[in-house]
Amino acid sequence: MPGMELFGAEERKEVMDVLETGALFRYNHDEMRQGHWKAKDLEAEVRKFTGAKFAHAVSSGSTAVATALAAAGIGHGDEVIVPPFTYIASNEAVLYSGGLPVFAEIDENLCLSAEGIKAAITPKTKAVLLVHMCGAAADMDAILKVCEEHNLVLIEDAGQALGAFYKGKSVGLFGKTGAFSFDFFKITTCGEGGLFITDDEQLYKNADSFSDHGHDHVGNNRGMENHPILGFNYRISELHAAVGVAQMRKISKIREANKAHQQYMKEKLSVIDGVTFRPVPDPEGDSGTFLNFFLPATELAGKVMKEFGETGVGGCNYWYTNMYHFINQWDHLKNLKSSAPLAIHHLGAPQDYNNLQLPKSQEIVGRLISLGIRATWTKEEMDVLAEKMVAAIKKVLN
Ligand SMILES: *Cc1c(COP(=O)(O)O)cnc(C)c1O
Repeated sequence: MPGMELFGAEERKEVMDVLETGALFRYNHDEMRQGHWKAKDLEAEVRKFTGAKFAHAVSSGSTAVATALAAAGIGHGDEVIVPPFTYIASNEAVLYSGGLPVFAEIDENLCLSAEGIKAAITPKTKAVLLVHMCGAAADMDAILKVCEEHNLVLIEDAGQALGAFYKGKSVGLFGKTGAFSFDFFKITTCGEGGLFITDDEQLYKNADSFSDHGHDHVGNNRGMENHPILGFNYRISELHAAVGVAQMRKISKIREANKAHQQYMKEKLSVIDGVTFRPVPDPEGDSGTFLNFFLPATELAGKVMKEFGETGVGGCNYWYTNMYHFINQWDHLKNLKSSAPLAIHHLGAPQDYNNLQLPKSQEIVGRLISLGIRATWTKEEMDVLAEKMVAAIKKVLN
């Protein structure tokens, strides 16, 4: 959770620029704002870091995913292949767009696999919502091939993968559209915020309008321009964007520290027979936010987590039972509980969500433990943590 670790004078300065002028809105008020355009600056920082031609800041990662779907033309009745291991926001975005989630298998890289996608395709499949989980990219060459062969629209939820690259290219730029989150737990945070990116100018325009009631933002008087499409309010405020600007200027340093600490901890855990690590297709491209490792069996991973708890090892996530990121915890989704009817209630679910057969995903997430990497760790802190972790794991395995 490095972003929140490094909140300091730089963030305060950017926020004060906004507070001193009182221009909290990202559009208009040119005189009042005295040259401060924080949302625009944040978008420029993200374009520079990712190499995206277009970036548009919005109110959250969740609304960025919703915007990515809408901008790419995915909506009512469209079947969208999704992973059973992701933050629930991905699947909520599909459901609230009117789409129908179709669950497919992940592999040990923790993302949808090409085979998993292939096996889930039906004549009605329109798109794949690929989630780059736990800070590193999916196996893009294989996935792009499947999407091309089957004419599927690829949309990337890179909510927890800003700073991840695949063969030199940023996540979020492989599909038609991509989404990042800047919530409090991400590599860079602005409290609440998100970013939409694309290399396609028309899709950018769609996103820009969709996230602000359809305004096309042509000219310099928002409110008096045209509204080519319907939209909604997913705007970011200047206060949030200001924090994001300062955080983006730190991301390369954060990423470097993350990667060094991830490698250090990996070497320490490598001494244990029976512990294996996430096979990342492009290790250089890993953002280093997590060290993901596997125990030989689900039962052993559960025991290790219990031992971690008893010996004071913090910072490890066991998604299989403890977190809101795995399908086993999504009874509301499986039973289509919502406060108001959704398209899926009228159209019917494309799968029997209560009887899904995803043995591979169950087995992989069951064995997985993810250590959240801190950018501010000292070597001494890592040594103490590693020693405790190794002792706990060895106790369970021996
Ligand atoms: C965090 C996250 C989101 C949602 O982002 P918010 O900013 O919290 O709305 C979406 N998808 C993934 C994969 C995430 O990790």
